[in-house]
Formats: sequence, C-alpha cells, structure tokens
Amino acid sequence: MKKLQYERPVLQLLNSGTMNKYGTKTEYAPFTHIDGASVHDLTEKFGSPLFVISEKKIRSNFKDANRSFKTRYPKVQFAWSYKTNYLNAVCNVFHQEGSWAEVVSGFEYSKALNNGVPGSKIIFNGPDKTDEDLRTAILNNSPIHIDHLDELYMLQEISEETGQRPKVAIRVNMDTGIYPMWDRFGFNYENGQAWDAINKIMLNDKLDLVGLHCHIGTFMLATNAYSIAAAKLSDLAINIKYKYKKNIQYIDMGGGFPSRNTLKGSYLLGVDTVPTIDQFAEAICTSILNAGFLEEELPLLILETGRALIDDAGFLIGSVISNKRLSDGRRAVIMDFGVNIMFTSFWYDHKITPAQEFSDFTEDMVVYGPLCMNIDVIREHVTLPLLKRNDKVVVHTVGAYNMSQWMQFISLRPAVVMIDKKGVPHEIRKRETINSIESEEIVPEYLKTFSLNGIEKRTG
Ligand SMILES: *Cc1c(COP(=O)(O)O)cnc(C)c1O
Repeated sequence: MKKLQYERPVLQLLNSGTMNKYGTKTEYAPFTHIDGASVHDLTEKFGSPLFVISEKKIRSNFKDANRSFKTRYPKVQFAWSYKTNYLNAVCNVFHQEGSWAEVVSGFEYSKALNNGVPGSKIIFNGPDKTDEDLRTAILNNSPIHIDHLDELYMLQEISEETGQRPKVAIRVNMDTGIYPMWDRFGFNYENGQAWDAINKIMLNDKLDLVGLHCHIGTFMLATNAYSIAAAKLSDLAINIKYKYKKNIQYIDMGGGFPSRNTLKGSYLLGVDTVPTIDQFAEAICTSILNAGFLEEELPLLILETGRALIDDAGFLIGSVISNKRLSDGRRAVIMDFGVNIMFTSFWYDHKITPAQEFSDFTEDMVVYGPLCMNIDVIREHVTLPLLKRNDKVVVHTVGAYNMSQWMQFISLRPAVVMIDKKGVPHEIRKRETINSIESEEIVPEYLKTFSLNGIEKRTG
C-alpha cells in the first residue's frame, strides 16, 4: 500500500453551542429562504453565485422612511439615487413608490429617461456634466445641481445661446462637525463661495434658482450633522428671500443615512448601533421647521437616500468551493464569490449565514473568494459552523453599490433575481456570457493569426 502523505496535525478549539462573542445566535440560524423562495432552488435555477433582491423589503424600507419624514414635515419628496443600484427593475420599484430619480452622469440620466421618469423629476447632480448632458437636461426641464463655477458659466452660455432659462440649484458643502470634511463637491458655505455662486446666478438672471442641495457624506452616524446642514441651507434660503425677494422651492438634503451593516473595526454590530431613519428625520425636519420660514413658504424637502433603502433588501448567495488549513493552523473556506462582485467587503464585516442545517461546532475562519488575488478576502475572521464543498451561504445587506460597482474580472458576473411580493423569483439581470463581454472587443486583422509549434491558428 502506498504510504499516505504526512499532514501536520492541528489542534483547534471548536466552540460548542451557538453563541458568538456578543452572546447572540443571530449569525447561526440557517437562512434557507429569502421571502419564501428556497436558497437551494434559486441556485439550481439561476446558478451560483447569485444576487437576490427582496422587492418586499425595498417597498417596506421606502414606506417606513417616507412615513418618518411625512409625519414630521408637510412637503417631502424622495429621489432614488441611481448609482446606489441602477438595475432598471430596482429603479422602477422606487418609481412605483413615488420616487423621483437622482442621477450623477449622462449615462444615469439616459437610464432614468428610458425608464420613463419625466425630465422635471430627474435631479441632475455630479461634477461631470458635458455640454450635451446640460442641453438635454435643460430641454427636459430637469433641475440641474451646479457643482462648480465652470458648470455655472457653461449653463449661462447655453441659456444665452438658446434663450432658455435652466432650472438650477447649487450644491453646498459645509462644516457639519464631521471630519475630514466633504468639501470637494459644490460651493463652500463658511468661506463665502456659496453666496458668491448665488449672487452670480441671481444678478445675471439667466438661470432660475429653484433649490439648494447638499450631500454631506455617506454612512453618516451622527444625526446632529444633518441638523447643522439643514440649518445652514435654511439660512441661505431665508437670506435669498430677504436679499432678492425670491422663494427657494426646495431644500435637498442628499443621501448618506447608514444601512445596518457593520463597519470594519467596529466592536458592536451595525444593527445595534446605527441611528434609525426616524432620528435623522427628526434632526432634519426640526431644523428646517425652526429656521424661520413663513408657513406658506416652507420649501419642499427632497431626500436622495440610497443605501439605507436598498442595502438590506440585497443578498448574495454563494457556494463553498473548498476548505483548507493555513500555515498558522487557521481554517480557511473558499467561496465562489469574490471582492470583485462584493466591493463593500472592503468596508463592512458582512453577515454570512449557512443556508442548510449545521452542527453546533463553530470555528473562527477566514473567508476567501475565488480570485487569484491575495486581496480577495470576504471576511478576515468570522466564526462560522464547519462548511463543506457545495454548501450554500447567504451574505446579507449587499443591495447598495455592489451591483453598480461590481467589476468583471477573471470570470463572469452573476445573475440578479428579484423576489416579488408573492415569493416568485424574476431574473432582472442575466448572468454574463463570454459573448456579452467580448461584444465590445476588436482584434485588428493583422493580429488574427499566429502559429504555435508550426500549427497555424486563426481567431474569430
Ligand atoms: C451617492 C449619492 C447619494 C446617495 O448616497 P447614500 O449614501 O447611498 O444614501 C445621494 N446624493 C448624491 C449627490 C450622491 O452622490
């Protein structure tokens, strides 16, 4: 008989029972169904890995947030932040709920128009709007949020040339007590740039100043920062009225409310520490209501909330490829999904739960993706039950940014499925194919042939 290869034995503490260091067992209940659809059936039908979106969760998140604001302030409008997740099916759920669109590029603008959003309900943000983008937005009567002086001058030129009067707002950045300050977008409040831009717009009269905008950060944990921002925008609006007799129609507070993910390096879980939307709504609405507007002149309050409305509606199902021992004895599990489709694993400790029954034994392990890249680490250490090849896991709270920032790398990006309110899955983006990737490639004629070891080859 052939001698078996020697393998160094490892002594490893297995934790018995289902407690983690917080004493909860939430991470350790098998997660077998998403909105009534079986995780195993989904992967059989649509492959693994697979992104799954809960329509029910999006709608309930939206309704809760909308209620939080509408019960505190008379005029509220949400605008869906396209870059957070711009799969058309997702956008249309938000539009069905009454959301406008908030876009930050010509590409996103076209997406919103193609989805059927009226131009006047597409808010155009961002520092990179081309001359053509601006002309399209003006023709469609969209509110354009000016980011810098060059854009302001471009708009004034287009207005002079075409005789149209674009609807504009300025984006304002400010000290809200959060550092480092987000001062690269828009005009600064404290140093007078914001007033400078306002004066240029009001005195030249080519542009119709309809709103004031800010977006003070993302995954903001301090509700007080929003009180300060709302107070500063209200102050500008009230003084514009005083100085120019002009009513500002809306104040747009941007996005930035956190989802319930756990930031890397934080000791407590996000679900236990993140403020609720009610708390943000209280901060913002109180601030505007107390600012001194006449009741009939209260501006419309616009919110561009992204991640807080979609993150926990998104799941990623994956399969175990293999287990191994690292040189230091730690257990490592290799999954079939990598950081290229889960960018947020760089910032969050995503909750991962097995999708089938498991034993009581758990072990601290590293979770790797399948890429041939050292950085492909999904969790540096997580306590999970022992998993074997082809076991399924569900990664939670991945609905924001992953499906727009994902990168095609080494293999094909997975399908995305939306589970409707009745529990029926609908494919909303197909798994990529080699053809969908290569359709944009061109091989010059002279590179189409080569010979290897004397055998002539010709491609495509
Ligand atoms: C990204 C972005 C949003 C959405 O931000 P979240 O943090 O996802 O809520 C809203 N407004 C603007 C201008 C943005 O750039």
